[in-house]
Amino acid sequence: MNRGEMLERALAHREAWDMVVIGGGATGVGVALDAAARGYDVLLLEQSDFGKGTSSRSTKLVHGGVRYLEQGNVSLVMEALKERGLLRQNAPHLVSNLAFVVPNYEWWEAPFYGVGLKVYNLLSGRYGFGTSEILSKEETLARLPTIRTEGLRGGVVYYDGQFDDARLLVNMAATAAEQGAALLNYAPVTGLTRDGYGFVDGVVAHDLESGREIRAAAHVVINAGGPFCDAVRRLADPGLPPLIAPSQGIHLVFDGKVLPGGAAIMVPHTSDGRVMFAIPWHGHTVVGTTDTPVENVSLEPRPLDEEIEFVLETASRYLRQPLTRADVRSVFVGIRPLVRSGDATSTAALSRDHLIHIDPSGLITVTGGKWTTWRGMAEHCVNTAALLEHLPEKPCPTRNLNIHGFHRQAERFGSLAVYGSDALHIQDLVHGEPALGEPLHAALPTIGAEVVWAARFEMARTVEDVLARRARALFLNARAAIEMAPRTADLLARELGRDATWRDAQVEAFRKVAAGYLVA
Ligand SMILES: Cc1cc2nc3c(=O)[nH]c(=O)nc-3n(C[C@H](O)[C@H](O)[C@H](O)COP(=O)(O)OP(=O)(O)OC[C@H]3O[C@@H](n4cnc5c(N)ncnc54)[C@H](O)[C@@H]3O)c2cc1C
Repeated sequence: MNRGEMLERALAHREAWDMVVIGGGATGVGVALDAAARGYDVLLLEQSDFGKGTSSRSTKLVHGGVRYLEQGNVSLVMEALKERGLLRQNAPHLVSNLAFVVPNYEWWEAPFYGVGLKVYNLLSGRYGFGTSEILSKEETLARLPTIRTEGLRGGVVYYDGQFDDARLLVNMAATAAEQGAALLNYAPVTGLTRDGYGFVDGVVAHDLESGREIRAAAHVVINAGGPFCDAVRRLADPGLPPLIAPSQGIHLVFDGKVLPGGAAIMVPHTSDGRVMFAIPWHGHTVVGTTDTPVENVSLEPRPLDEEIEFVLETASRYLRQPLTRADVRSVFVGIRPLVRSGDATSTAALSRDHLIHIDPSGLITVTGGKWTTWRGMAEHCVNTAALLEHLPEKPCPTRNLNIHGFHRQAERFGSLAVYGSDALHIQDLVHGEPALGEPLHAALPTIGAEVVWAARFEMARTVEDVLARRARALFLNARAAIEMAPRTADLLARELGRDATWRDAQVEAFRKVAAGYLVA
């Protein structure tokens, strides 16, 4: 993916695109990938970087959602379990099988959760990840050596998927580009154009780097703005009532030694009736999440103090060694674009089903759902768009479409495993310039060659793009990421042909953003 070429394509395209997609998160990139793979002519515009919104800030689970089973939403769970299986099949370098243990401290928990998780497993049918089992106290401790032993009776283990969300997104964008889509980051859509009948027939956007205006005519415009989707709808009609109820969720990240057994902990009932996870991820431990309704949406939402305390307190209840603020390496926050419902009493009770909504202007909004179900959402959305605009019908091929980087044994690439088959090219960069093989920080495995790769082939434009989403340093250890910024900026400036002023401004801008990931 080359940003200069993408921009040229967007500027030079004279005829109407079949589809213009607004938003470069899982939903928008999924739609662009689906549309391009069918042979439609598609342009995607993202206001910031791909994945800057919610799609880099998930719990990193490719799952059916045990919680939704409890809510009785069997069809959502079955759909998500099928998508979980397809995603592991199509992106095995990024989706792995993880054991989750529910520790039991009450006599009724083993039979209760044992049966529930058996059903969860049965619903996955041929897309199963492994059978659930009841564990003795000793077996539970072997998988979770750090949990509280007082009163521990045993546990239940089940299997679900885990992934690197921002890496999958970048690889999906590359797949979409390979299928012919044009995708541009740092290009906010600031207006929607209408034809003589009042129907939306295109977008106006700006290239934030050159300041140039991009006018893109389209047969159909698809709004995948996530938590911002209502603001996008109001570009066409300022009076529209909102479709979504935004709700934020935080995660705290700790060292890997918090969960040394390789398994995750699932707490089915926190004090506020939610599910909480502690999962091993990239050598660290991610704990979350919360569900807090928010009025305003932002690209850098901040955690509330009470959310931090709640996560620390809940996790500490299950661990022998309580966790404190000083143990937190990073905190990250995402906003769920939940579909509104008049009778829901809390955002936790709102459905995780997706919604495809058509405004009177013909603007299609696709929102809600889950990361896991991006493929099904995209298929549904592109079917709707083609029908609405009488575009020639074309079958959806994404059930069996490999995602860029596809590799069945990526673990052999060590810390470069998340790049799948691209790891070989990154290794080549190191052979050409051995200094690029050095880690940028002693606490994390990210090497200089990853910066070069991200700038050359993954459209990374800023230090933050590299350290937050191409590599995951900011999400794993914010302090280390801040210390990596100067060297990252040097390499990026060299790749992108920028001067020392740009480099210094980048380091400063990254420091400011990263400060929001530190917990004092
Ligand atoms: C705390 C939390 C944990 C979660 N955990 C999981 C999980 O473990 N597994 C799972 O399956 N799902 C999970 N989810 C759900 C999942 O992350 C979301 O459903 C998904 O990421 C939403 O993607 P999206 O593309 O709709 O939104 P986003 O990722 O927010 O993308 C929308 C994009 O639109 C862009 N945009 C907005 N306005 C404009 C404009 N005017 N012009 C151009 N671009 C614009 C934004 O910049 C943004 O990048 C979680 C969600 C949260 C909040």
